[in-house]
Amino acid sequence: AGADPGIPSSAEQIDGWRHVYSGKVRDLYVPAASTSLADATAVLVVASDRVSAFDFVLEPGIPQKGELLTTLSRWWFGQLDGFANHVLEGSSVAQSTPAGGAAPAVPARFAARSMVVKPLDMFPIECVVRGYLAGSGWAEYQKTQSVCGVALPAGLRDGDRLPSPIYTPAFKAELGDHDENITFERTVELVGGDVAAELRRLSLEVYARASGIAEARGIILADTKFEFGADRDTGEITLADEVLTSDSSRFWDAAAYGSGERTASFDKQIVRNWLAANWDKTGTPPALPAAIVEQTAARYRELIARLTGPVA
Ligand code: ATP
Ligand code: MG
Repeated sequence: AGADPGIPSSAEQIDGWRHVYSGKVRDLYVPAASTSLADATAVLVVASDRVSAFDFVLEPGIPQKGELLTTLSRWWFGQLDGFANHVLEGSSVAQSTPAGGAAPAVPARFAARSMVVKPLDMFPIECVVRGYLAGSGWAEYQKTQSVCGVALPAGLRDGDRLPSPIYTPAFKAELGDHDENITFERTVELVGGDVAAELRRLSLEVYARASGIAEARGIILADTKFEFGADRDTGEITLADEVLTSDSSRFWDAAAYGSGERTASFDKQIVRNWLAANWDKTGTPPALPAAIVEQTAARYRELIARLTGPVA
C-alpha cells in the first residue's frame, strides 16, 4: 500500500500537520503546507496502540504500545550505522533538513510515539529474513520443504534454527488484504533485478548485524521484516518504516530456547496464540481479554529493557 485517499478517520488532529494515511498500526501526517505524501518534504509517523494479528486490527489496543515500538525503532536505527535510513531527527542521524525548510514542531504528547522521517518511494515488498523456522515459514515448509522458493533440509521442526538465514520476501498487500509470500524471482519482476538483489543483500546484512546485537543480550532474533524505499533525490535504497520491533520481528529468550522451551517470545505471539485458540478466523475477531493485553504489554516492556539496557 502507499498513500491512500480512503483514510480511516480515527487518527488524531495534530497542529501543523495534515493526516494523509492510516495503516493498521501507524498514522502518517505531512506538513500542513503539503497536500499529500507525494509533495511532502517530511512525514510524521505516529505509532498508535493498535495491535494487529492475521492482518486484523484487534480490540482493545495495548497500552503504551505505540511508545514502546517507537522507542525500539529509534534505538535500532541508532545501532545500524552504515545503513541509510529515513529518520530526519536526532544527533545520531546525519541527515540534512529536507528541502523546503524545517518540519513543523511535534507536540509534546506525540513526541514519544512518533518520528519525523523522509518520504520515500516505497517498494511494495516486505523484506523478510528468517534465521529460524516459525509462523508462515514453518507452515510453508511443512507443505513444500521450502520457503518462498528457498529449498531447506528435510526433518526441520517448528522453531528450529536454519543452516543460515534466508530471505523470504512477501508482496505488500493493500490495506485489508493479506500479504503474500513470493519468490525472489517475483521480486525481480516487481522492482527489477538490481533493486531486488540490493533489497536481499541489505536485508540479510541488517539481520546479521541486529541478530548479533540481540544475541549479546540473550535474545534470539528469530525473524524480522524490513521495508525499504528509494530516496526521491538520489535513488539510494533506504531503510524505512519501523525496524526490529516486536511487531515486525519474533524475539525469543535465548536461555529458554536453549533449554528446549520454545514459547518464551517477546512479541505478539501471546496475542496470536490466544486468537488462534479462540477464533475460527471468520467474521470479526473477538475482543482480547484484559489479561492477554497486560501480558503482551509486559513482554514488550521487558524486551526493551533487555535490549536497550546494560549488557550483562
Ligand atoms: P499498509 O501500508 O498496508 O497499511 P501496515 O498496516 O503495516 O501496512 P502501518 O505500518 O500501520 O501500515 O503504516 C505505515 C505505513 O507507512 C506503511 O504503509 C509503510 O510502507 C509506510 N512508510 C513507512 N516509512 C515510510 C517513508 N519513509 N515514506 C513513505 N511511506 C512510509
Ligand atoms: Mg507496517
